[in-house]
Amino acid sequence: MKTYQMYVDGKFCDAASGKTFNVFDPATEEVIATCPAGEAADVARAVAAAKRAFYGGWRGTSAQERGRILLRLAERIRARRDELARIETLNSGKPIVESEYDMDDSATCFEYYGGLATKINGEVIQVPANAVVMAVKEPMGVAGQIIPWNYPLAMAAWKLGPALAAGCTVVIKPAEQTPLSLLDLARDFEAIGLPPGVVNVVTGMGPECGGPIVAHPDVRKIAFTGSAEVGKIIMRSAADQLKRVSLELGGKSPNIFFSDADFEAAVDGALFGVFINQGEVCSAGSRVLVQQDIYKRFVDACAAKAKTIKVGPGIERETKMGPLVSAEQRDRVRRYQEIGKREAKVAAGGGAPKGKGWYVEPTIFYDVDNSATIAQEEIFGPVMSVIPFKDEAHALEIANATPYGLAAAVWTRDIFKAFRVVKGLEAGIVWVNHMQPTMLEAPWGGYKMSGFGRELGHWGVEEYLETKQIYINLDEAPIGWY
Ligand code: ADP
Ligand code: MG
Repeated sequence: MKTYQMYVDGKFCDAASGKTFNVFDPATEEVIATCPAGEAADVARAVAAAKRAFYGGWRGTSAQERGRILLRLAERIRARRDELARIETLNSGKPIVESEYDMDDSATCFEYYGGLATKINGEVIQVPANAVVMAVKEPMGVAGQIIPWNYPLAMAAWKLGPALAAGCTVVIKPAEQTPLSLLDLARDFEAIGLPPGVVNVVTGMGPECGGPIVAHPDVRKIAFTGSAEVGKIIMRSAADQLKRVSLELGGKSPNIFFSDADFEAAVDGALFGVFINQGEVCSAGSRVLVQQDIYKRFVDACAAKAKTIKVGPGIERETKMGPLVSAEQRDRVRRYQEIGKREAKVAAGGGAPKGKGWYVEPTIFYDVDNSATIAQEEIFGPVMSVIPFKDEAHALEIANATPYGLAAAVWTRDIFKAFRVVKGLEAGIVWVNHMQPTMLEAPWGGYKMSGFGRELGHWGVEEYLETKQIYINLDEAPIGWY
């Protein structure tokens, strides 16, 4: 068992209280590490360090220098890919192949923002006055970042990359379930030239450690990815100081299959859309909408294939689905499986294997009514709800009948139909004939109760920038008003 420490002001340290919490391997249910249980006092120290680092130099660092640091961070992740992927899998449960992909994705994200750092520009604005008017971009200051447990290091990269490129300093809190990969990466922060205090990693529980980050008056902006429930708490707390917030919350994303879609590709896409990463994906295609004339065949084909998914320890290379992240999450998914059995019919799974590890079976419910609990609430596990539809209008009506609007996908060979449906969907990310590919260059975020603000691409950096208008008078004379 390992003892981890937080990373504050360039040093590893314990919580002021000395308290710790346990971190588990979801495949064995065993404690693999302890981490400091940070609270308000630790957050205050981290914010003070981030503030000193911001005013003491980081905001004046050239974009080239910030960019180079991000590129070096990417290099370190690539050099340590296998080791970091192993930690990620041990801690989160996800298949090792997916963790390796996540490490590559994290490195690519830092590379992208390393390059973007030098391309943050303002504008010169045409005005009727005899003046030069500009809009320049400036870093906001100390950013607070709170991240979830489903993609631990990748979510950290998605948030740290743009914040550092913008010139902000950061206090980041990984999820209490999965703090290890980021803490491990922090061991390299000094070597790549990141000055003390620029990135502070605090660990602890949501209300006790995340809460004080949101409430701290010196934190200018909060970026959060997690549940809608916590998103609301964060927004309420941030309102006290009218703090800027970006929220990437849950979803109940529709994956829509028309009868003219390539059948094999469609079945594959339906499974991939909701079973990748054990279904612990905010953009999971958890509502599978299928046109009536292929419905029965589609459900049968999905069920047959779902039963062949290899569920097992993430660390084994053949594993296609690992355990869920925690006992709490496993219980939550098990509850929804039971609700589903009352609300709809079971085509595959519906239970959990016996023995150690927080596993559940890949589960498919069909003949689901869109108003059912399993069609309306985010489950965040490998549970697919299949819903039949008649025609295009009917598909759109069902697709949009949810409080969420993160993602959606449509499968058809008819380009006119594809675009009509894309236009009708209320979602921040829409795929055609695919589901889940995530481009670091493109905007990521939701409509409706899936939150607001956008991550990735240049949109991601905007979230950390202020806009300053500068008016330079060219009339060398008194105003002449009085
Ligand atoms: P889940 O319920 O699946 O764990 P959450 O939305 O609760 O998802 O957690 C996402 C992140 O938000 C985690 O880092 C967690 O510690 C943090 N968090 C949870 N509750 C709060 C809170 N009240 N204030 C700030 N952060 C919180
Ligand atoms: Mg929670």
